[in-house]
Amino acid sequence: MTADLPPALAGLDIETRPAQVRRRSRDFYWYSPVLKRRLDHVTAAMVITPKDEAEVARVLAHAYATDTAVTVRGAGTGNYGQAMPLQGGIVLDLSAMNGIVSVAGSVGRFQAGAVLRDIDTALRPKGLELRFHPSTHGLATIGGFVAGGSGGVGSVTWGTLRDRGAVHALRLMTMEAEPRTIELRGLDVHKAMHCFGTCGVITEVELPLAPAHDWIELIVAFDDFMAAARLGDVIAHEDALTKKLVTAIASPVPGQYLFLGLVSEGQSVLLLMVADFAAPITRQLIEAAGGRIVHDRRTLEAKVPLYEYAWNHTTLQSLKHDRTLTYLQVAYPPPGHLERVEHMWRTFGDEVPAHVEFVRMRGVTACSGLPLVRFTTEERLAAIIRYHQDNGCPIFNPHVFTLEEMGRKDVDAAQLAFKHSVDPKNLLNPGKMLSFDDPERMTTEKGFFTFSG
Ligand SMILES: Cc1cc2nc3c(=O)[nH]c(=O)nc-3n(C[C@H](O)[C@H](O)[C@H](O)COP(=O)(O)OP(=O)(O)OC[C@H]3O[C@@H](n4cnc5c(N)ncnc54)[C@H](O)[C@@H]3O)c2cc1C
Repeated sequence: MTADLPPALAGLDIETRPAQVRRRSRDFYWYSPVLKRRLDHVTAAMVITPKDEAEVARVLAHAYATDTAVTVRGAGTGNYGQAMPLQGGIVLDLSAMNGIVSVAGSVGRFQAGAVLRDIDTALRPKGLELRFHPSTHGLATIGGFVAGGSGGVGSVTWGTLRDRGAVHALRLMTMEAEPRTIELRGLDVHKAMHCFGTCGVITEVELPLAPAHDWIELIVAFDDFMAAARLGDVIAHEDALTKKLVTAIASPVPGQYLFLGLVSEGQSVLLLMVADFAAPITRQLIEAAGGRIVHDRRTLEAKVPLYEYAWNHTTLQSLKHDRTLTYLQVAYPPPGHLERVEHMWRTFGDEVPAHVEFVRMRGVTACSGLPLVRFTTEERLAAIIRYHQDNGCPIFNPHVFTLEEMGRKDVDAAQLAFKHSVDPKNLLNPGKMLSFDDPERMTTEKGFFTFSG
């Protein structure tokens, strides 16, 4: 700590070197050329890494007294600038608060900074694992996932974070003169989930776990993308087939960017993770559908797990080859989800190569999309988004950084009220919750904000 830092912060782990602070003030916002342009300049004044709740409380009390913005950081793997401090101030890095609090029966409680892979490694001897996780399993924290993520590997069986019961409890700290510790349980957890750290600093997460399996990874090549997508739909709907990943990706992406030498640029793929005992039947279904298995291996033996080519890793792997690519997040509401996928794929062709992830949503199996976009201009991107929206495919826009613009296009009254009670000065990640600043504008101009500065 340098001499000009306030005495209230004495003894804390504080980083003030500009290059280091700038590096830890970013996330994967650069996936979006729109956000890259808008957020490139953003940086905090310092990064503080607390080791326990007492230190978090000291930082929050100091920030409240001095009207300083605080942006919480897990691992900084968010895609929309969620962890970027728009108003500078303090980045509060929770990565040192990373312990396992308890595992009782099939319920685990973890400190917010625990990395998902470390959690699963610790759970494995107990025959348990996380029900689902983002493809950033190796880096992302459990706190960052519930505050900024949505679903991922395992969601084809277990649903997403929106589902009631996906998270049992959150412990969080308030941004007040004397920070309080609150425990939200049951349905109340949704007051502080997926709000980009604007509704309190989460220090612990409690959630139900799944039985661990020996997962088998399959890459299946098809000459026709829709044949891959249709088989994915069949497997996703077979409740008796224990599975963790069902992903269909259209040509030329697999041969061009993902599995060079394994599949050709003319081929599409279906990526599967199924339990070892479900693999023989899955292989029969693949053969009957005309697919060709080009990779068949246990996840435990993989240096790079297959899911690091799925979900938003499909975009990352592709960006390694072509930095002009970007992506979208699309919903294809069922029934008729495959027809919608096919319509968009045929409409945009190679400008928007299809990538769908099968997911269970409140008891219904369907798919959502993370198609790549060969970016040209913001106007063209906006036109592609509009076409999807006008044709029954809602977009969760990854080219904006506020909660309301992204997908909801509306005020979450319960979350807003909770926000007022835990962060009355709007110092937690300010700028990310538009409705705090202007609820009237939000309710009267639904959807207006796309690309609106
Ligand atoms: C290659 C790639 C693949 C991805 N795949 C997926 C995917 O499959 N599914 C998915 O949902 N997401 C995915 N993401 C997005 C991201 O990885 C996940 O959402 C991840 O869980 C974020 O965790 P993190 O620890 O990095 O959080 P951060 O990026 O550090 O933070 C995310 C948000 O949560 C807030 N936050 C962090 N910790 C706390 C806390 N303790 N209390 C309060 N607020 C907090 C931050 O302020 C920020 O707004 C992907 C991103 C990349 C780059």
